[in-house]
Amino acid sequence: MENPLLAHDGLPDYANIRAGHIEPAIRAAIERHRATLAALLAQDAPTFASLVEPFEEANHTLARTWNPAEHLAAVQDSEPMRAAANTCRALLADYHAEVGQNEALQRACAAIRAREGGGLGAPARQLLDNLLRDFRLAGAALPAADRARFRELMQGLATAQSRFEENVLDATQAWQRHVTDAGLLDGLPADLRERAAAAAPPAGLDGHLLALDQPNYVPVMGHARSEALRREFYEAWTTRASDRGPSAGRFDNGALMEQILALRHETARLLGYASYAELSLATKMAATPAEVLGFLEDLVRRYRPAAERELAELERFAGRPLAAWDLSYFAERLREQRHAVSQEALRPYFPLPRVLAGLAEVARRLYGLTLEPRPGVALWHPDARYYAILDRAGREIAGFYLDPCARQGKRGGAWMGDCINRKRIAGRESLPVAHLVCNFPPPAGGRPSLLTHSDVVTLFHEFGHGLHLMLTRVDFPSIAGIAGVPWDAVELPSQFMEQYAWVDEVLPLISGHVDSGEPLPRAMLERLLASRSFHAGLAAMRQLEFALFDFRLHAEYDPARGGRVAELLGEVRRAVAVIQPPEFNRFAHAFTHVFAGGYAAGYYSYKWAEVLAADAFAAFEDSGVFDAAVALRFLDSILSQGGSRDIMEAFVEFRGRRPEVGPLLRRDGVAA
Ligand code: ZN
Repeated sequence: MENPLLAHDGLPDYANIRAGHIEPAIRAAIERHRATLAALLAQDAPTFASLVEPFEEANHTLARTWNPAEHLAAVQDSEPMRAAANTCRALLADYHAEVGQNEALQRACAAIRAREGGGLGAPARQLLDNLLRDFRLAGAALPAADRARFRELMQGLATAQSRFEENVLDATQAWQRHVTDAGLLDGLPADLRERAAAAAPPAGLDGHLLALDQPNYVPVMGHARSEALRREFYEAWTTRASDRGPSAGRFDNGALMEQILALRHETARLLGYASYAELSLATKMAATPAEVLGFLEDLVRRYRPAAERELAELERFAGRPLAAWDLSYFAERLREQRHAVSQEALRPYFPLPRVLAGLAEVARRLYGLTLEPRPGVALWHPDARYYAILDRAGREIAGFYLDPCARQGKRGGAWMGDCINRKRIAGRESLPVAHLVCNFPPPAGGRPSLLTHSDVVTLFHEFGHGLHLMLTRVDFPSIAGIAGVPWDAVELPSQFMEQYAWVDEVLPLISGHVDSGEPLPRAMLERLLASRSFHAGLAAMRQLEFALFDFRLHAEYDPARGGRVAELLGEVRRAVAVIQPPEFNRFAHAFTHVFAGGYAAGYYSYKWAEVLAADAFAAFEDSGVFDAAVALRFLDSILSQGGSRDIMEAFVEFRGRRPEVGPLLRRDGVAA
């Protein structure tokens, strides 16, 4: 039988893909891609149509082979599946590095850009500019000696970053708290106690055993009545992988942090940038380090009074000055008292079928879309489903899989991933198809899955990413949908869509009691809406502290002085933190977002995208959240454009001006 991952004439045959198909399919797909590329480069005078378009097509085919395999590894975990996916990830990383350093391809693209640039459409020019930029950032333009050093730097970084992450994981797992006096667990949620009771016997212990992972740490800090227990957890958590705390020195990331910063700085200098912060911005919407720092410092000034007010009020409520390990405990008590709306009490009002029907209605009112269930499509699990998306004229323009509920062997969290990106090259078209994956509670007791409101927000968020992929009109897959969109703007469509889960007139569409069908009662709805900006100032200041620390660390690095990690963290905290953490706090040593990869000199992206999304949504607030003209402008200027145009220009076209922070501050209840 043919390998189902290599059949590309329709949707993936999810019912028949097995772990054993993955590696042979990826090896075959890489070989085909390599042969295609060699043949394309053997042409005498390649053109955009004879080289770049078929190259896009070949990349699309390779992605289309891998995406379903990667998806299955995440939703249908097993030893063979995991092993096959890991092997293929490494094969693909090597192959992408090989293509990224292909000098002949780089020269051909540069020649095409110079020769044909003026005559090509704007998206094609953008595509070529991205390709040439990525070659440059992959070191392909460097002299031979520098290129060898560049490869060493990349390998060194990959090793150091993954060791950083391993140390954090090992340090987290190395610490556990054995509790024999059940009174110490007062206040903790029942599910946490059950987990802790179940964990003790396998370790040969009685009583309760609490691990130091996020699902335990967060509720302990928020709910444990025992201050001693909170303090112990706080110390263990904030000294992970450092020279302090219960595992002091065993997994210390101190030297690795210095090494990582030095390697990044050298990489940036080799590529002609003054700092790694500048290199990071080469692919982002923000233009210069000064712009990012100005953005963050401005927000610090604006949020500070609110954060100080919130802290003072919290200390009055607690009746004493608060230590770092008291903050979330008393915040939770104040929240309960003031907003008295528990997520658990909201669940019966948000049954999944009702929420989905409301979400479909929002998509219809905004963009004229119809979500049509397609029961015949092959799936990996009976819980999953497939919807076609029809436009106003009833034409099928896209589709998505939804796998809503948690189960054994499925990765936690929620995400949107490409199944198939849109493509139209030389008359051959692929419609975009998304995977939307969540981990809502499974149906139980004859009732459908019941969502909390924060689950509803998550669903809207992922659907927003999905629309970015599905409503794209761009023909070239490397700049269609979310591809080629700068990292600091990629959360704009998702955070924009989240806002709809908080709209007064949308809540009746997405809620209906599971037994009576009644919409959310007015009083509950009002409490829910009011709870949104609770402690928004404190939360924002925390994110701004992380973002400023990350950015200055990379912008100010000086090889003569080293990373100055502790010094800089102290400086940022003195300037930003409204509550000074204790001296032993070694937060940076477990800051995996920044030291293990992705968000280096990019943590500011969270706030940046939040500002864009709140400001975009504010365009609707004057004329109504379903205003057809504004929705069409958002679709035309931003949502359908993928990475095909400069995102700042697109935003200005939509909004009539550059982004402003006012709408986000208003949403957070902070005076502008
Ligand atoms: Zn997101």
